[in-house]
Amino acid sequence: MGTAVAYLSEVEHHLANTEAQSFDTLALHAGAVADPTTGALLTPIYQTTTYRQQAVGKDKGFTYSRSANPTVSALERRLAALEGVEHCTCYATGLAATTALCLALLRAGDHVVVSQAVYGGTVRLFNQVLAPFGVTADFVDTADETLLRKAVTAKTTRFVFIETPANPTLKLTDIRLAANISHEAGALLVVDNTLLTPALQRPFERGADVVLHSTTKFIEGHNATVGGALITNDAELHERFSFTRNAIGAIQSPFPAWLTLQGVKTVGLRMAQHSDNALKIARFLETHPQVTKLLYPGLESFPQFDLARKQQTSGGALIAFEVEGGVEGGIHLMNNVKLCALAENLGSAETLITHPASMTHADVPAAQRQAAGITDGLVRLSVGLEDPVDIIRDLSQAFAQTKGAE
Ligand code: PLP
Repeated sequence: MGTAVAYLSEVEHHLANTEAQSFDTLALHAGAVADPTTGALLTPIYQTTTYRQQAVGKDKGFTYSRSANPTVSALERRLAALEGVEHCTCYATGLAATTALCLALLRAGDHVVVSQAVYGGTVRLFNQVLAPFGVTADFVDTADETLLRKAVTAKTTRFVFIETPANPTLKLTDIRLAANISHEAGALLVVDNTLLTPALQRPFERGADVVLHSTTKFIEGHNATVGGALITNDAELHERFSFTRNAIGAIQSPFPAWLTLQGVKTVGLRMAQHSDNALKIARFLETHPQVTKLLYPGLESFPQFDLARKQQTSGGALIAFEVEGGVEGGIHLMNNVKLCALAENLGSAETLITHPASMTHADVPAAQRQAAGITDGLVRLSVGLEDPVDIIRDLSQAFAQTKGAE
């Protein structure tokens, strides 16, 4: 273990020398260690299963790549630094991170409170995988203080899991309030920060205990990998996550970790541009006669605009809207875009358009979808980095084809 510690202090030393603490600089440098033999600037891809040990019981901090891998560790140091805390474990996918979180913290008979509107796979995990093991999840509108307070009163509530903004309705939860309510009840607050990243939202500064990421999205940002992360400032929680990750075999592989190390370098720049582009497109949609409902946290018309201004730096990349002609109208629009890609995923450089009811949230029971505001006609747009004029042109031609066709 000694050398792993030396390895870490080398990183700290590197940052101390540059006195670099600002977000964009950390995104480039935090956790990186030049290759000790060649000086290669980028952290190498340590594509190895195992590590030669000097003697029985004596190693350089790495023994087997299911437990830890130097490339993955470099990504973990960088993501922890970007969220402003000490510890991170990376996983094969975002859902592997959620699974590890639950297996580390929950036992049969335990209870959790989850935001009513969350990624569909999170709902499926609680309802269809964890429920048979005796874990109860209550999906509540965590934006409603009274409902949230009522939901966490169970003595067995281990954590409150919020996604803010929520995928796909963009409903916000007040992170500080949720942290206070959770802590008063003796529960932890877990924040899925996937939709904004630490570039636009800092959950630990508002009382979160754990931050979860699907790094598949904006953190890596280029539609090239799947991955996940659990980040915390609590050494004991981190220890439990590391133990669980090793025990269930859910670690990320070195190559996706390396690609994510490259992608995350520009997360601050990308998130600012995503938000600028999304605001322009949201303003276009706001005045479009075929748009019947529009949700974008950066618009004054957004029902929780004040909360968005309080806890987010900007509106982010996601827009949710409904189209004249209901479900058929929305489907027609999605089938007629040319530049925007009709695809699952969000958070990439390319603009993606998605039908949550049949794609990302298809496994959420219809009644639960309706209760969470995920209507069958809802269209989700993850605005990319193209010139927004081109996206507006594409949407305009798709709207023109949709008019009267539904
Ligand atoms: N959290 C959010 C907000 C998501 O949107 C997703 C996936 O869409 C996940 C978690 C799960 O991540 P992954 O697809 O990497 O397993």
